[in-house]
Amino acid sequence: MDIRAQVSMVFHLDKCIGCHTCSVACKNVWTDRPGAEYMWWNNVETKPGTGFPTLWEDQSHYKGGWELKGRDGNKKLELKSQNKIDSFVKLFYNPNQPGLEDYYEPWTYNYANLFEAEAGDDQPTAIPVSLITGEPMNIEAGPNWDDDLSGSTFYAENDINLEELSDEEREQLFEIERISMMYLPRICNHCANPSCVASCPSGALYKRGEDGIVLINQDVCRGWRACISACPYKKIYYNWKTGKSEKCILCYPKLETGQIPNCFQSCVGRIRYLGVLLYDADRAAESMKVPDKALVESQRTAFCDPFDPEIIKMAKANGISDEFIKAAQLSPIYKYVMKWKIALPLHIEYRTMPMLFYVPPLLPVMGKMANGIYTNALDNFFTSLDKSRLPMKYLARLFSAGNEDIIEYVMKKLMAVRYYKRTLDMQDIDLVMMNKMMREGGTTPEEAEEIYRLTAVPTIDQRFVIPEIQREESIESTCNPEICKGSCGIGVIQPPTRGL
Ligand code: SF4
Ligand code: SF4
Repeated sequence: MDIRAQVSMVFHLDKCIGCHTCSVACKNVWTDRPGAEYMWWNNVETKPGTGFPTLWEDQSHYKGGWELKGRDGNKKLELKSQNKIDSFVKLFYNPNQPGLEDYYEPWTYNYANLFEAEAGDDQPTAIPVSLITGEPMNIEAGPNWDDDLSGSTFYAENDINLEELSDEEREQLFEIERISMMYLPRICNHCANPSCVASCPSGALYKRGEDGIVLINQDVCRGWRACISACPYKKIYYNWKTGKSEKCILCYPKLETGQIPNCFQSCVGRIRYLGVLLYDADRAAESMKVPDKALVESQRTAFCDPFDPEIIKMAKANGISDEFIKAAQLSPIYKYVMKWKIALPLHIEYRTMPMLFYVPPLLPVMGKMANGIYTNALDNFFTSLDKSRLPMKYLARLFSAGNEDIIEYVMKKLMAVRYYKRTLDMQDIDLVMMNKMMREGGTTPEEAEEIYRLTAVPTIDQRFVIPEIQREESIESTCNPEICKGSCGIGVIQPPTRGL
């Protein structure tokens, strides 16, 4: 086993109010400069919707992530975006590369005209001008162009995660009184099997050994943009001014001094949690070689119990500090992902082993009963899952590679916690019903109380468990030669990047 530490995250989607404060907090600090105007290292999408860049989840077009090839016993992962034959040609022409039209042309307004326009009959206006050419332009798209437009057949209906819904289910989803939406904040997933790192012909991308943050060495990047194609989450952007690629750096300068990343610190809904996960790097790529529906469970087999004395011994032998191990034991991420199993990765079928997790939203799940009333009536709590406003199939496409059983498990547990707390708060304890709910939700009053505490009333120290990172003590490369082909970059400690 090759134990590594990953600074990981959970987003609790029931708490996201779609305010975009996180996106603005990130932009103000990292991408408010020439060449980076159109970049949103953190963005928040409305789902169902088409996202940013437009239809980024359509891998039949963008060809991001890994493909599972070969037969049983000899399965291997290959990049979808390139192979040995076309990788050189694609450096010069790549039809799967997103273009400016898939993002948007950044603009500002000619505010000076409001003050300097000559006196006339009309009110002076501030017309939009392109931040790239400086010329006047018509605004035809922007970040979050489909914000809050779920239910609109113009945008939401084009969400490719609705592909497998039957006509009847589609009709139900877009029935006006059933319309429902959720917000999906997204940053780089700091994947454990990152296709971006494997695709870079210059070796500029790497995954830091000490905390798993994926970075681009700006001194080495030659702007080939292979990483932009290879990242299925489209979380790498090309800076047209510097000619280099850029991405979320998880605010590592803040993390190194024990501070909280900007998007996390500013989160109004307090939906974000950050902590350490210990994982077995030998299992990272291996765990992604199973059929789609088994991927979530398979990924969990790569995570390690931070209380297991054997794991602690191996972690220490790999140079992981006591401070990191203690952080892993207190980690809110370990609780959500491994202990309670209610936080899931986004689109794990891309097989990059994303290391950020989401608690799917319970709110839109409340079903519509025969009498036409939306309800979460006690007896119907679990049966209503079938009739949920956001179909289970849809949530499964997002968070469990189509495995509806996993989503159902999470929903039932979340519903049981809600029922448990409501019963206590209303001082209306029906023990028989409570026990039934706990059983069906696969939980206990003790666990429900724990989930409630960390979800609803956590202190900042419980939400963010950050060990200080001392680079001089960071672990040396201990790649397993059987898995490491030298291209992934995992474990290779590189010099700190300049600027980014
Ligand atoms: S999301 Fe994963 S594949 Fe994409 S840039 Fe981040 S680490 Fe790389
Ligand atoms: S700041 Fe928090 S609540 Fe607001 S959109 Fe971002 S993740 Fe959601």
